[in-house]
Amino acid sequence: MSPVHYLGRFITHVKRITIAIDGYSSCGKSTLAKQLAHHLHYTYIDSGAMYRAVALYAMENGLIQNDMLDKANLLRVLPNIHIAFKHDDATQRSATMLDGRNVEHRIREMDVSNNVTLVSPVREVRAKLVQLQQEMGQGGGVVMDGRDIGTVVFPNAEVKFFMMAEPEVRAQRRYLELKGRGAEVSLEEVLANVLRRDLDDTTRAADPLIEAPDAFVIDNSHLTSAEQFDLALGHVVKAIGVVAEA
Ligand code: C5P
Repeated sequence: MSPVHYLGRFITHVKRITIAIDGYSSCGKSTLAKQLAHHLHYTYIDSGAMYRAVALYAMENGLIQNDMLDKANLLRVLPNIHIAFKHDDATQRSATMLDGRNVEHRIREMDVSNNVTLVSPVREVRAKLVQLQQEMGQGGGVVMDGRDIGTVVFPNAEVKFFMMAEPEVRAQRRYLELKGRGAEVSLEEVLANVLRRDLDDTTRAADPLIEAPDAFVIDNSHLTSAEQFDLALGHVVKAIGVVAEA
């Protein structure tokens, strides 16, 4: 175990901080978030899953048709949409629950990825999910990833990362992941989705994806996940050390 890894484990007992990870689509945010959460014994919260669950609800209830969102009717039912995370005994992982149903796998499929940026710019959707995310992260000991975590959800997070990678690299990784799960997709389709979501997420009026001024930027185009983890853990260890001494 390297000194940074050892120190990381030791100081988890000192102070449970909030770690915000934002960045572009499919750039490994959840991989890093899960690694950090596992190492520090923190809770990992996937905020993107919550937007995906709202998109799935809209798709299943006829509120998205031909690339158009029926916003008025979504707003009418929004208070009744129930989203939560629950431990799944079968996979030993946290699963996204939509109205009590496990949708963890369904929300990762391509049709949901293609529709999610119809619901994510809606202010009322964001207000509901941001409030839920803030409640879930109360008390620290949390790693949350998304687009607006360090800027809107937890602007006072002790450590913030902003992640990026070349679009082709991200699309290739996502493509292999989807193929590994048996999905029928092409690399072109995945690249088009990544580029489309980058544009939608950075140009929307409500809580767009922007770099928090105090975020550590990680471009992982040419980093392995182990290298990225070491880099990130180094920042976390420093932050916890400073907090612990204060
Ligand atoms: O992280 P993931 O790629 O699963 O997120 C799916 C979509 O949800 C993003 O493209 C974005 O439109 C939306 N999202 C968001 N704010 C977040 C997390 C995700 O708008 N905090």
